[in-house]
Amino acid sequence: MKLITKLWKEKCPSCGDGDVYESKGNVLLFKVPKMREQCEVCNYRFEKEPGYFTGAMYVSYALCIAEMLVTVLLGLVFDYSLEQMVYPLVLVIVLFWTFNFRMSRLIWMYFV
Ligand SMILES: [Zn+2]
Repeated sequence: MKLITKLWKEKCPSCGDGDVYESKGNVLLFKVPKMREQCEVCNYRFEKEPGYFTGAMYVSYALCIAEMLVTVLLGLVFDYSLEQMVYPLVLVIVLFWTFNFRMSRLIWMYFV
């Protein structure tokens, strides 16, 4: 399985079969994604040491900036003013926070 496919399907970085998350979370229900402690297939421990996922915050920040940049570029295409872009930007941040949370930890695990 290719790396990007494993990442996108949120699979274990070691075996590629086990799911990393028990639940994906839900923005509308204010549910936080729940991560497993270890892989159910190969017993790979996801959090290698305490504070391991601190670096994932930087990945999350980069993902958020990229999403906001796309939103601003779309706003420029549709000739929105800066004031008109505030609401779409806030909407993007709120809607994508669970996705960013999950993807940032996965990217951190896959590449660090
Ligand atoms: Zn595994």
